Amino acid sequence: MEKIAFNDLGAQYRHLKDEIDKGIADVISDCHFISGPQTEELEKELCSYTGRKYCVSTSNGTDALLMPLMAKGIGAGDAVFVPAFTFFATAEVASFLGATPVFCDVDEDTFNMNPKSLEKQIKKVLEEGKLKPKAVIAVDLFGQPADFTEIEPLCKKYGLFLMEDAAQGFGGAIGSRKACSFGDVSATSFFPAKALGCYGDGGAIFTDDEEIYRLLVSIRVHGKGSFKYENVRIGLNARLDTLQAAILLPKLHEFDKETQHRNWAASRYAELLKDKYRVPVLKDGFFSSYGYYTLKAESEEQRSKIMDALKAAGVPTMIYYPLPLHLQKVYAPLGYREGDLPVSEKLSKTVFSLPMHGYITEDVINYICATLQNI
Ligand SMILES: *Cc1c(COP(=O)(O)O)cnc(C)c1O
Repeated sequence: MEKIAFNDLGAQYRHLKDEIDKGIADVISDCHFISGPQTEELEKELCSYTGRKYCVSTSNGTDALLMPLMAKGIGAGDAVFVPAFTFFATAEVASFLGATPVFCDVDEDTFNMNPKSLEKQIKKVLEEGKLKPKAVIAVDLFGQPADFTEIEPLCKKYGLFLMEDAAQGFGGAIGSRKACSFGDVSATSFFPAKALGCYGDGGAIFTDDEEIYRLLVSIRVHGKGSFKYENVRIGLNARLDTLQAAILLPKLHEFDKETQHRNWAASRYAELLKDKYRVPVLKDGFFSSYGYYTLKAESEEQRSKIMDALKAAGVPTMIYYPLPLHLQKVYAPLGYREGDLPVSEKLSKTVFSLPMHGYITEDVINYICATLQNI
């Protein structure tokens, strides 16, 4: 068996080499490195792909999460509800602005924010009266959209600003609604390892709200007013490089094909593993882009045993994520204890992800599954 990649970006490059090389060469010969025409073209195409009215491309996914919170003036004294089982950036952006992340537990099957836990935490914050509930950031973990059919009405009920962290969700859907179209604002990341990734850092924000869109465009370039050197608010330097936009365009054109391939790979994995392993579960009507393919072991010890055996057979695996956010050291002052969010804690001890990408072959999947069957 040849060397198995967790995410084979080399295979993708070989497939798209001509278009990607041409895109890069064009940017270099045009010398329009910042906010070049490819950036605008990408934003237009991303709008039509997701069905959103406005798209603001950004420097990375973390800034894409941060900027809408800045636009809404979220800060000290505000509660921002986030799942405990996610990448750190989801909560970090709230803390960066002086707001307080309030952690919610997730659903054991979908890995996504549990709407019941969200409502419980909102009520708790209201009862305690110390923080003002302001926003919810729901994450589309591993490619499956969060449960927006329940979270959207909950946010309406309590008057909360809803953001979709679609850093892993791009390409997913609920019925005919695509990821990056849920809530008031959606944010995604083009970090190389994401389902749609560039060759460095990148991200994008989506909204249908014109006022928020205008604020985001200003925040992206130092809080500019009617022109670049008029500054009307505190902003950032948070633009996407033209080079990255030029690399993303051909990848976006190939994206549906790759997503179909990842879905084929997921069903092949499930077919071969479902008798012995706990394979991912999709909610009815939900479509996953399968950025990651994540299994659950029975215990932390069993997980180590499985991962060691796979490693010995040359199969790379990853743990997303080994520590739930409410138990991260930096959040110790918030006073959470082990046992507060039991599902997130259990998942962080038992999940592990297998190789998954748009170019994985049947032979590789068969080999990985045979190894897993023999453990
Ligand atoms: C990757 C990721 C981010 C951050 O994106 P960057 O582009 O790395 O800043 C945020 N949230 C989630 C869920 C992610 O997976």
